[in-house]
Amino acid sequence: MSRNLESISLSRTSTIRDALAALDVAAVGVLLLVDGDGRFERTVTDGDLRRLLLDGKTLNDDLSTLPALKSVVLEDGYTRRHALTLMQQAVINHIPVVNADGRVTDLIERSQVDQQVLLSTPHMGEAELEFVAEAFRTNWIAPLGPNVDAFESELAAMVGVKHAVALSSGTAAIHIALRLLEIGAGDVVFCSTLTFIASINPALYQGARPVFIDSEPESWNMSPQALERALQAAKAAGQLPKAVIIVSLYGQSADMDPLVALCDQYGVPVIEDAAESLGARYRGRASGTFGKIGIYSFNGNKIITTSGGGMLVTDSAEMAARARFLATQARDPAPHYQHSVVGYNYRMSNILAGVGRGQLKVLEERVAARRRVFETYRTALAHIDWLEWMPEPEWSFSTHWLAACVLKPHAPITVNKLIEALSDEFIEARPMWKPMHLQPVFADAEYYRHSNESVSDGLFERGICLPSGSNLTDGQISRVVDVITGLERATLLDKAE
Ligand SMILES: *Cc1c(COP(=O)(O)O)cnc(C)c1O
Repeated sequence: MSRNLESISLSRTSTIRDALAALDVAAVGVLLLVDGDGRFERTVTDGDLRRLLLDGKTLNDDLSTLPALKSVVLEDGYTRRHALTLMQQAVINHIPVVNADGRVTDLIERSQVDQQVLLSTPHMGEAELEFVAEAFRTNWIAPLGPNVDAFESELAAMVGVKHAVALSSGTAAIHIALRLLEIGAGDVVFCSTLTFIASINPALYQGARPVFIDSEPESWNMSPQALERALQAAKAAGQLPKAVIIVSLYGQSADMDPLVALCDQYGVPVIEDAAESLGARYRGRASGTFGKIGIYSFNGNKIITTSGGGMLVTDSAEMAARARFLATQARDPAPHYQHSVVGYNYRMSNILAGVGRGQLKVLEERVAARRRVFETYRTALAHIDWLEWMPEPEWSFSTHWLAACVLKPHAPITVNKLIEALSDEFIEARPMWKPMHLQPVFADAEYYRHSNESVSDGLFERGICLPSGSNLTDGQISRVVDVITGLERATLLDKAE
């Protein structure tokens, strides 16, 4: 934020003409009045100069009659939030930073201060508009249309499945998946506990009863040993689940081989919630393609987005056809409007599918960019021994959709305090998902922990997600690093004292 402070500094011996000329050249709308020793006295605006002239002064008069004024200033170590609050209160757009000697070290501008670093924002490529324009040109706005067909086949080819069905959201895709498996009232559905609630809400729509499975420490995803105990108990109780929803968290696949093997052993179908892990791989194969049904999300914060949308993938032609049928109001093949089962209006529009096609073209780049964000944090903050980064097992290729880490027990700061410190610098960070077994809405649900210890509880208590967008600039990543490094330095100083 440095600028040439010299050119906007004046003393009381300067003339009004000098001052107006300096304002004209500097174009910042504010001058710094300093005393003979270079110490800051007050700011001067064109309004101040106009008032002098209206009082009868001439352009050749000096600034000696300018009234004394206690200008709003900042001291080193200010936060962006503090600076912006002062600017808003005083209705000004510039504040000088004044050091202990009374000298101005910086002049900060509102437009530099109020720039947010957000967690994960949409990142458009170059082809999206062309696909959308084509939809406009041909008046294929809705329903469905060639972009939908192409988006489905392009995504299917990319992840290596036979069929893909474009839907209005990831949540809709999970709902349809449950309907395909004929899950209804009273049925049991197992689900990863450490997830976003959309993974399991559709089970409630169906009147099913969720049972939650803990994470394991290696990948933070579903624990095979907890799943095994849950399946054993369910079998003993005479009610096996009708599906296991395995979530791949923050861009990293769950440990699918042992999880799928267990489900196969008990004859329970797997729904893979890969909403957060499109582009990730498990032992070389695309995340989302291991279950009977997989789902992806194109919500605005996901790795690629259609502004809102989802995809259901499966190798079963029958299931794909049934998914399309259910998602378009379940209309029977009759010449009139006839319906034998309940359906939904869940298909994706041809416009949004155009956005999706463009986004799919840059998926690989987006994955690389998010991985780079994560690596940059990890490298730049490697000296901070109270941070532990989300592990990436050797079988995993994570997209690092969100850069997740946990604060170790000896961390000098809590998750909430760290989020607050980042927020004071207008950096958006989030706690980790609150596990489903801790949610009031699931207070009565059964829960199987990894071992004596609940891994997900620990991750929730100590976990944080840092800004991770593929469109973050190096400067924005540095801002995050600087805040955390600053906190570490402050605690080292505290210890030294
Ligand atoms: C985002 C998300 C969903 C839901 O996707 P929408 O498209 O927002 O409905 C489901 N599961 C997980 C784990 C998610 O992160």
